[in-house]
Amino acid sequence: MELKLYDTLTKQKQPFRPLDPKNVRMYVCGPTVYDFAHIGNARPVIVFDVVFRLLRHVYGENHVTYVRNITDVDDKINARALRDFPDLPLNDAIRRVTEKTAAQFHADVAALGCLKPTFEPRATEFVLPRTDGKTDMVTLITQLIARGHAYEAGGEVLFDTASMPDYGLLSGRKLEDQQAGARIAVDAHKKNPADFVLWKQSSDDEPGWDSPWGRGRPGWHIECSAMSAAYLGEVFDIHGGGLDLIFPHHENEIAQSRCAHGTHTMANIWMHNGFLQVEGEKMSKSLGNFVTINELLRDWPGEVLRLNMLKTHYRSPIDWTLKGLEESAKTLDDWYEVAADSKGEVASGAVLEALSDDLNTPQVVASLHGLRNAAASGDAKQREAFAASLRLLGFLSDSAAGWKAKKQQASGIDAAQVNSLLSDRAAARARKDFKESDRIRDELAAMGVVIKDSKEGTTWEIAR
Ligand SMILES: [Zn+2]
Repeated sequence: MELKLYDTLTKQKQPFRPLDPKNVRMYVCGPTVYDFAHIGNARPVIVFDVVFRLLRHVYGENHVTYVRNITDVDDKINARALRDFPDLPLNDAIRRVTEKTAAQFHADVAALGCLKPTFEPRATEFVLPRTDGKTDMVTLITQLIARGHAYEAGGEVLFDTASMPDYGLLSGRKLEDQQAGARIAVDAHKKNPADFVLWKQSSDDEPGWDSPWGRGRPGWHIECSAMSAAYLGEVFDIHGGGLDLIFPHHENEIAQSRCAHGTHTMANIWMHNGFLQVEGEKMSKSLGNFVTINELLRDWPGEVLRLNMLKTHYRSPIDWTLKGLEESAKTLDDWYEVAADSKGEVASGAVLEALSDDLNTPQVVASLHGLRNAAASGDAKQREAFAASLRLLGFLSDSAAGWKAKKQQASGIDAAQVNSLLSDRAAARARKDFKESDRIRDELAAMGVVIKDSKEGTTWEIAR
């Protein structure tokens, strides 16, 4: 079985051949920590978690290095710090914002069933040269200037895009088009409108580091060039992120890294996940359909969000709907019932094959439905393969009972209260007070609880 991945740079699916099978290396751009992550932010986290799990499966758990950074220096962070903690010194206020937001992000993505990356560097720790000699931003910028790829102007250090003949390969934007199409007034100090900031000066009320170019702070793109090189080297296997990062962020990461190191490539495969809409509309704060992971986790267990995400292929746009969530929740209820107590260890070949075909998760889900049916009709071997496949994908982290409890908790329904109402209802039925038993049933229905009477007794579940 050969792993094939679609590469944004060559625009084709290609066989994945790691530079070093003993150390397969992947970098994914992480969050800028100033606010709750929204469900669109969850998409790359889940998608690349599945890539990470698949690589670990193929090459061994100890032979994959996954780096996802935290951007903790950004003008949006400064603004939030000033708004939320106006009485604190700026650096303290910034730390409060970034620590709180990063902790929230970690809790959110853990609930989504995502493994921790191998390393999670924070940008602020890679600005200045380090005692451990790992790549830092100031050194990279110095190299770019020395090699004639960057220049100082107007209090900034800028990347000289004209110095790189094949700038724009990833996004397919030619430098000439950008010059002709530049609608924004060109900053007078730029040689070229496409030139971008590597370093900018900080005023006294902005965070800053002392550098050869005065007290300032890095541009966003240089962060990822430094942190990827620090942990993965000058050239590595996979670089990932959302489609919206192709330009300018990834294009500029490539320019910086290749020109600073003198390499022909930065990463061998560039993977990008597609956009996410909510109920058919672009998510935005002004439309009022801006959904955070945190809000969704109040109503749904994380694995429901995870399955709902993986039902769509990662490169396709996804329409995030309540209906989809309801279906995903139903599917998982059923899968938990069939597989949760199985200890299977060998994942299904069909599931692995679909995953190896550029992460064809819709096909994976179809295979899982097939396995589920075989398992439910008594095929013990298929049941084990079903359970093992689900675990490989980051599902079944609970027991069947734990799952039920989690769903009740997520729905805000108090199981003890339901059980007490059910015993009142049983008592009413026993004394043939059907009016009262119907009233209790209606009360439960109003709470979102559906009851089923059978010969074995009464069971209940949460209506969706
Ligand atoms: Zn990045």
